[in-house]
Amino acid sequence: MTTSTAHRADHQLREEILYWCRESVRTGLNFNTQGNISVRLPEHEAIVITPSGVRYDVLTPEQMVVVGYDGRVVEGDLFPSTETDVHLAHYRARPDVHAIVHTESPYVNMFGAVGRPIDPVLLNMVLYAKGAVPVMPFEFSTNADFGARSAATMGDDVNAVVWANHGLLSVGQDLAGAFKVAVAVEANAQVLFGALQLGTPRLLELADIVIPEGARLP
Ligand SMILES: [Zn+2]
Repeated sequence: MTTSTAHRADHQLREEILYWCRESVRTGLNFNTQGNISVRLPEHEAIVITPSGVRYDVLTPEQMVVVGYDGRVVEGDLFPSTETDVHLAHYRARPDVHAIVHTESPYVNMFGAVGRPIDPVLLNMVLYAKGAVPVMPFEFSTNADFGARSAATMGDDVNAVVWANHGLLSVGQDLAGAFKVAVAVEANAQVLFGALQLGTPRLLELADIVIPEGARLP
């Protein structure tokens, strides 16, 4: 087996992270250099994460940073995301999680600003986020203690947590899955915001949904 550090994260994975970074801007989940994305590299006891402060339209696959679980950079020339310690805390807390997407989308942030959990009113929210998304009270986000509290607030049964006055952290078994959670929570927050003006929204729970045998998920 080669020990070359040049291949701890292969080019295809770096391209995939870059794709979802740009999707996050295209779909209105992030602006400018907001947000960050990481993927677990189980074979290397490490994660690969977006660098700090680089606009996604000029970011290249080679600029992704590989970081060990101890927080040390093992591959890459740039600083890793300022929220790397937070991602690491979530990976430690949830062995089922293999990808993390952090976004700062507006409707999620409206609920975060008033400290109100985002209750599920849409099918995709229940299928992908798995339930009401809790809100963690505001604090500065770039340290391991914040990460441990964020992971504890999310718990084991839900796939996202709102950071009040800041944004959302979503998790998944893979990157496409974690991104789906971020999209589902923002869409749900937008519809819930409107539904609350119109009346009393009917909330959904995972247990309420009967999925026919063999059905493909949306
Ligand atoms: Zn952020």
